[in-house]
Amino acid sequence: MSAPDKFPSYKVVQESKKQCYPKPENIQVTSTNAEVSLQALLDHTVERLFLVQKPVIVLLQENELDKFVLYSKWGFDGSSGHSSYKQAFCSPEASDSAVFITSIVPLRLVNGDQIIWQNPRPASTRYCRPIKIEFIKESTDTSIAEKEKVQSQINKLINSIVTFDNKSFIVTHNLILAMVDGKICNVLTDTSSTLKCFLCGATSKQFNLIDEMVKREVKTDNLSFGISVLHGWIRFFECLLHLSYKLPLKKWQARGDVEKKIVSENKLRIQKEFKDKLGLLVDKPKPGFGNSNDGNTARRFFQNSEISAEITKLDVEIIEKIHIVMIVVASGHEIKINEFREYTYKTAKYFVEKYPWYNMSPTMHKFFIHGPEIIESALLPIGQLTEEAQEARNKDFKRYREHNSRKCSREKTNLDILNLFLLSSDPVISSKRKLLKKKTQSMPIEALALLKSPDIRVSLQYAKDTDDDDDDDNDNDDDDNDNDNDDDYDEDNDSNEDNEDNNHDQF
Ligand SMILES: [Zn+2]
Repeated sequence: MSAPDKFPSYKVVQESKKQCYPKPENIQVTSTNAEVSLQALLDHTVERLFLVQKPVIVLLQENELDKFVLYSKWGFDGSSGHSSYKQAFCSPEASDSAVFITSIVPLRLVNGDQIIWQNPRPASTRYCRPIKIEFIKESTDTSIAEKEKVQSQINKLINSIVTFDNKSFIVTHNLILAMVDGKICNVLTDTSSTLKCFLCGATSKQFNLIDEMVKREVKTDNLSFGISVLHGWIRFFECLLHLSYKLPLKKWQARGDVEKKIVSENKLRIQKEFKDKLGLLVDKPKPGFGNSNDGNTARRFFQNSEISAEITKLDVEIIEKIHIVMIVVASGHEIKINEFREYTYKTAKYFVEKYPWYNMSPTMHKFFIHGPEIIESALLPIGQLTEEAQEARNKDFKRYREHNSRKCSREKTNLDILNLFLLSSDPVISSKRKLLKKKTQSMPIEALALLKSPDIRVSLQYAKDTDDDDDDDNDNDDDDNDNDNDDDYDEDNDSNEDNEDNNHDQF
């Protein structure tokens, strides 16, 4: 190799890699998990961020050095269907088919009113730092235990201190539990029924009484869970699909063989037309688990609203209105609350007027009725709190485990995966990665009207990250944006096929 400046010696690479890991004493690895202490991870993240932003930070006044706050979001998610390796475990009941990952994503570093650093891609994994990888199946108990465990670490957090140029900089941490999907929200808020709203306690039978719903009192503690942006796309899409299957009946539930036959024939027609006209696989079960409804499918359904309306025979305006709501929420910009509240209220009213026989889904209820309040109470623009980064990690996990880890023992495999997570989310390295220009779709005027500063060109989320393509997986299916987390959006709807009657989304 004759380009030493481009290809440094391995020793140099190794040294730089070491810089990306918190101190070894803060990392724990066993045959079933790999874990970094939260304090160490945050200290390390802050240190690396300061290195990136040094030119800005050195300009600060002496009296501003202790006024830093780092806002981060955190969360966890399980995924299943992983390969079982022929390696011994420490305990006989352990299994490696399901994994549960907890991560944190730094979003914004501020000093007083000044933003020192802003995560340019909050939905991507490029700053998604691992707290824990554990081989365990996601369940009510594991979710609650994990939340409590991390919460207790958060309660004990002390400020991070960075020193350079003989100065000490003090950073306070503010962590937001945002990267959780609806299923985990229900668990954490102790909501047993998936058809019940965890904010106001209303059930799906009441959802269509819009004026009654907006007056209901909301559990403000639960507002912090925010809105799942990725699942919002999928759930809205599914709700409209299920509505369209039943359109010939104009009934919420198909009863008897004749009605069921009408619905299933209509479903087949819709699926076929989506495949023929848009190339979309809709509501098809995937081998193993889940179905083919992922974020990309949902976004394409809404982007092609006219064709979608033609196929589903739904009112095109309702598809377009929901699309606007999702664009605004996912945009990552500040939202004009009053205007947004009016828009969602009108959309909800419009939906009920068009389809009075179909109870709104929990996701629709949550976005239309509580959306404005959730957005108002959030510390950062809601689109930045998306859980997508966390979910996309499941895909990385599979790849790193299969291709980039030593297999000589479970401990080594786990350590290698954790290290790769640390490397790929390291602020210094990520800041050097090119931000690929996004395929910007111009935002519809209705959406712009609901945003505070729509002229900013850092369209964070709507224009969808294509950035992760520049790492090694260019497995572009002919999809226009491939870095989605399709695989992982899984078990929460694997029962979708058979219980046609109450499959309205469990958000
Ligand atoms: Zn509610």
